[in-house]
Amino acid sequence: MPLMTEKLECIVCGRRFPRGQGVTLVIGEKEYAFHSKRCALKFLRRVLEEFDEGILTKAFNNVAKEFAEELEEVRERKAKKIV
Ligand SMILES: [Zn+2]
Repeated sequence: MPLMTEKLECIVCGRRFPRGQGVTLVIGEKEYAFHSKRCALKFLRRVLEEFDEGILTKAFNNVAKEFAEELEEVRERKAKKIV
């Protein structure tokens, strides 16, 4: 069954790994494969350097705010359960 053992190659370190492990990101029409979170993060950090600082700052603020709101919701739900 060749489909089950499809191998991907990490674009950061070149290591080959089976699909389902590691991290894949689909951007546009391309899929980017990373054998580990560490390699994905290394790549993403480099990607972030390509962005305009103003856009980057805004994006980080927005996403941080979203996570803060989600966290708040989870905490409220937990607090209700306990009561
Ligand atoms: Zn890698």
